[in-house]
Amino acid sequence: MLKRVEVVVVGAGSAGCVTAHRCAEMGLKTLLLDRKPQPLVGHKVCGDEVSRSHFDATGIEYPQGEEIANIITGADVYPPSMEQELKVRGWTEFDGWMLNRISFGQRLLKAAVSVGVSFHPNCHVNGPVVKDGKVMGVEYREPDTGGITTVAAKLVVDASGFAGVIRSKLDDPLVEKRIAKTDIALCYREYLRLKMPLAEPNVARVFLGARVAPAGYAWVFPRGVSEVNAGIGTTGGESRGSPKSYFLKLKAEYPLLFGSQELEGGGGAVPVRRPLMSLVADGVAFVGDAALQVNPIHGGGIGPGMRAGIILGEVAKEAIARGDVSAEGLWDYNSRFLSDYGRRLASLEIFRRLLQDVSDDDMDFGFSRRLLEAEDLMSANRGDAFSLGIAGKLRRVKRSSGRLGLLLKLRKAAGLMKKMNKTYLNYPAGSEGFESWVRSVNNILQSAHFE
Ligand SMILES: Cc1cc2nc3c(=O)[nH]c(=O)nc-3n(C[C@H](O)[C@H](O)[C@H](O)COP(=O)(O)OP(=O)(O)OC[C@H]3O[C@@H](n4cnc5c(N)ncnc54)[C@H](O)[C@@H]3O)c2cc1C
Repeated sequence: MLKRVEVVVVGAGSAGCVTAHRCAEMGLKTLLLDRKPQPLVGHKVCGDEVSRSHFDATGIEYPQGEEIANIITGADVYPPSMEQELKVRGWTEFDGWMLNRISFGQRLLKAAVSVGVSFHPNCHVNGPVVKDGKVMGVEYREPDTGGITTVAAKLVVDASGFAGVIRSKLDDPLVEKRIAKTDIALCYREYLRLKMPLAEPNVARVFLGARVAPAGYAWVFPRGVSEVNAGIGTTGGESRGSPKSYFLKLKAEYPLLFGSQELEGGGGAVPVRRPLMSLVADGVAFVGDAALQVNPIHGGGIGPGMRAGIILGEVAKEAIARGDVSAEGLWDYNSRFLSDYGRRLASLEIFRRLLQDVSDDDMDFGFSRRLLEAEDLMSANRGDAFSLGIAGKLRRVKRSSGRLGLLLKLRKAAGLMKKMNKTYLNYPAGSEGFESWVRSVNNILQSAHFE
């Protein structure tokens, strides 16, 4: 069977729904495919936290009613010692909501369908259809007959999440097919009913350090006064325990979780590096986790994927109207996303590497002496690096007595974040300058080691 559309979006997660919605809103005939049955669209093992800032930036309606499990108005960040935590308040890039993912996902899907998106559930996409190096469509298995249907599309959007079912099957110099294990967080997460109610039910807790989560972090996000979403993500792959084993250890050691009742548990994976360096190739674009559009320090990907989906829908419309869906014709999506929000994510990859490389002992020291303050963390998350201005420098030198090495690492990270920022601001205007730009990014990353 052959179907013809202008855009086919593979995957009806938050990124796919928002992209399909925007494409249809712009007048494009859009097909959205997902392997899930319709009532499960939105389901995802996730921390469920999304910042209000993403809705303000995109104009997508705030979560409401059933979609909201809780409101988040701050975060406490704990060092390995679990003492002297950093209390971050007024963090506009983080504060927001704990979502009920299915309700939220169903709303995004319904909104997409209401503007004309044709949604087909239970359709497992096998991969792209490629001709002369250009993506021409996708193939999927029909739910009823098991037969293979080919969809011919002017533009294929891979929004299939971590799996990247289209991306991972393309051989194109612009496409990063595989992702390094060190850039993937393997996670385990549970919903827990607590024995004791929370004193601060609107404050998220984040735990750093190799003892708790090797090269990763753990979280306890409240879903109400006595229910939490708690989990752990570790990166690096080999020779470590499973994320579940670290999570069970945390549960056994952290008094808040003593005697809690598991309501639901499960694993997942999330990319934690800069986004794909090109989000497009001939006839194809990537969005959401499939494009690695995730905050590298906390793994938040709902917001970045929605931001990118809005841009991609607009660029798709222009490219299709011009009759040019080559990589060059779609390049505006690269320029608009990567030089703006992507820039933050890329500079946060440096910060993630810093957090991973610093020893638990140094991290405890840094927290106890406040070598980084809440404002620095917020500023780093904006991708602005932390300024370490003259007064700040002197204050920190004094506080870092005996551990100048640690201060130097902080300064090195701040410098590299600035450099990364600048490099992304100069994202090439077309594929011509792409190779040399990639070399510049890789040069910065080569220096980003802080052992
Ligand atoms: C444990 C964990 C905790 C997290 N915590 C947070 C958090 O607190 N806040 C936050 O913002 N982000 C968090 N994230 C990341 C966030 O969940 C993702 O970034 C976000 O959901 C990605 O959305 P997406 O639409 O790109 O992909 P997904 O939500 O993964 O959607 C992909 C869709 O594609 C479909 N699909 C896949 N393969 C095929 C195929 N072959 N054929 C057809 N359909 C297919 C899937 O069924 C799915 O519906 C977390 C991730 C994990 C793993």
